[in-house]
Amino acid sequence: MEKVAWQGQVVSIQPRIRMVRSFDERGHNYLGYSLILEGVIGGEEREFTVGIGKATQAKFKLRVGDEVSGLGVPVADPRRETVELYRVSKLKVLRRGEDEDGTPPPWHGVPPDLEVYRQRGHRRLSARTYNSKCRGCIWGCRMAVEMIVDPWDPQVRYRYETFCYGPKSCPNYKAGPRRVVPGRKGMKWVEPDWVDEQDTAHRGPDD
Ligand code: SF4
Repeated sequence: MEKVAWQGQVVSIQPRIRMVRSFDERGHNYLGYSLILEGVIGGEEREFTVGIGKATQAKFKLRVGDEVSGLGVPVADPRRETVELYRVSKLKVLRRGEDEDGTPPPWHGVPPDLEVYRQRGHRRLSARTYNSKCRGCIWGCRMAVEMIVDPWDPQVRYRYETFCYGPKSCPNYKAGPRRVVPGRKGMKWVEPDWVDEQDTAHRGPDD
């Protein structure tokens, strides 16, 4: 597939994680990081999204404000990704962003290793809150979700869900409605609040 040239300023960098749900079970694939950029993609000026791997981020330590350029390949299946381009090559940092004076939230700076996200665990985050307050925060994450509705008759459904890995005391946080997962023969799993509480129980309110 033909590579697309892009260049822009990073307005968000968050973990790029795919969730696989099977009724009341869920697992995560840690793919790398998602960038939202304002700039030019394929000759068109607009906001766009690019996925990079964890080795690339370990090397370049990208953060909000950086001006970067590169080439990327359009994703093969947009239902399984939250970005437009991936398999990035020829990445260049053209200019480093300035340190910000503002106090969080949202948290900016270089996001931690993916292992840190895994250890921290997440809570569901209202999609509306994500879009209005959390898109630029390193602790926010919009995941592509694959739902295996019936393990004996593999049919997969796709959607996107938003999560927060940040401090539980963050004043921006709103959980939003409980997540409903479809199952066999029209059954439904309504994910209870204790799932998030259990996932983040090892952290204090400000961790
Ligand atoms: S709710 Fe979570 S993602 Fe949103 S600003 Fe607070 S810590 Fe960041």
